Amino acid sequence: MIDTHCHLTYKGLHERVDAVVAAAHAAGVDRMITVGTTPADTERAVAVAQQHDGVFATLGLHPHHAMEVSDRAALISAFRRLVADCSIVALGEMGLDRHYDDPPQSEQQRALEWQLELAANYPDLPIIIHNREATEQTLEVLGRSGLPPERFVFHCFTGSNGELDAVLDFGAMVSFTGVVTFSGARELAEATARVPLDRVMVETDAPYLTPEPYRKVRPNEPQYVREVARTMAAVRGMDEAAFIETVDANAVRFFGLPPGTQA
Ligand SMILES: [Zn+2]
Repeated sequence: MIDTHCHLTYKGLHERVDAVVAAAHAAGVDRMITVGTTPADTERAVAVAQQHDGVFATLGLHPHHAMEVSDRAALISAFRRLVADCSIVALGEMGLDRHYDDPPQSEQQRALEWQLELAANYPDLPIIIHNREATEQTLEVLGRSGLPPERFVFHCFTGSNGELDAVLDFGAMVSFTGVVTFSGARELAEATARVPLDRVMVETDAPYLTPEPYRKVRPNEPQYVREVARTMAAVRGMDEAAFIETVDANAVRFFGLPPGTQA
């Protein structure tokens, strides 16, 4: 199966990435997308993707790192250079995070808007959105971009039912992490069933958010993505294998991934 969002370049995973990818493959997770959060991080992600079968990379500037590229020309040239790599399957993650005041909202919004302008030049690439406590603002900026809503996935969705409905009304895909397996997030787990079957995906967001029953294991790894799918299948009263087949088909279609090596 596919882990649609992890950070193999982050501390705890990058220094032993061969073993992390091997463990994922051994667990039947034959494909994973390692998400870039700065131009330098994207370079590392591309290198990991080039060195490992079944690993793909993305190109983005995360809102937490919005200040690291404050020059528009620098962002444009980094995008031009990196987007040409054939392991890049998406743009992002990009977005807004109101959980922290730093960087300021204005800087986060600037980084998001610049990237959305660039995204218009690469219409074949889907876009991964980071949204934390900023659903309304994020939807407003995405709507203004004029880009087709079906190009976007809201990754690691943890908002309210109302926010989920707003994202679904907008027309984006929605992806969930191990948070849905946590005992304190029963309402979120149940809400995952509101997402139409052709618009839902699963991810680990490793090294963060290890799913139950491995929650105490740090760092999280792509090999645990099945636990996310298991919880969501159970909520829907759906056979686990059939649910995994569905979310994998969505990921293949959305990210334009090549066929996998195992079911
Ligand atoms: Zn992430």
